[in-house]
Amino acid sequence: LIIAENINKHFGQFHVIKDVSTKFYQGEVTVIIGASGSGKSTFLRMLNRLETHDSGRIVIDGIVLDDDLKHIDAVRAEVGMVFQSFNLFPHLTVMDNITLAPRRLRGVTRAQAEETAKGLLAKVGMSAHSHKYPHQLSGGQQQRVAIARSLAMQPKVMLFDEPTSALDPEMIKEVLDVMKDLARGGMTMIVVTHEMGFAREVADRVIFFEKGQILEEAPPAEFFGNARNERIRSFLGQIA
Ligand code: ATP
Ligand code: MG
Repeated sequence: LIIAENINKHFGQFHVIKDVSTKFYQGEVTVIIGASGSGKSTFLRMLNRLETHDSGRIVIDGIVLDDDLKHIDAVRAEVGMVFQSFNLFPHLTVMDNITLAPRRLRGVTRAQAEETAKGLLAKVGMSAHSHKYPHQLSGGQQQRVAIARSLAMQPKVMLFDEPTSALDPEMIKEVLDVMKDLARGGMTMIVVTHEMGFAREVADRVIFFEKGQILEEAPPAEFFGNARNERIRSFLGQIA
């Protein structure tokens, strides 16, 4: 579904992504881990063109991600993203947050959009909160709404950049549970997270980023079972 081939990126002199190649298959859940500053967010953001790449090729569902705005729009329509900070529109209710993009960008009627939104809110356990504003919700609740909002655009792939790292411990589980449900439902997901329990339980594959390169990629049993690389073992030791 997603092909990344020999991707390079610099921020000025700094070579942040170094010749990264990998593929993400339909229905697969990939967890990306690695030290702070290793380029995880930058890589993820390149998959929906929030960052450009300097060289190499990214192809998503057959669309080449380049400067062509038509391609960028087409890819963004297929790729949803959830960030660490919840990024809801503060002046809109939960319902309006979810229905805005489908109505504006997809020409869906308000009635249809709200019908879909109700289903999504039920899915993320937020049915009782549709009339509230973001500031009236806990962080975990806001993040679940953010997930529902992304899903409203019917993406083929969902990107998550540390979706639980800004949350209090008791709220992490409720967000991870929603993500597990999504994964079980067959969603293609790429998740940057330090939640190793999630990785073990849900991931089909774990990618370890180190200084802008993929140092290791393997199914979780293999990855956690016998991490060959000393660097990875020490990283896992630190966060466990
Ligand atoms: P973290 O775990 O802390 O989120 P990360 O692996 O997501 O880290 P990135 O955010 O991708 O790391 O950043 C990789 C490197 O690129 C860092 O050294 C960062 O300072 C640098 N960087 C990121 N964005 C920019 C930017 N817009 N301009 C210049 N440098 C940047
Ligand atoms: Mg990051």
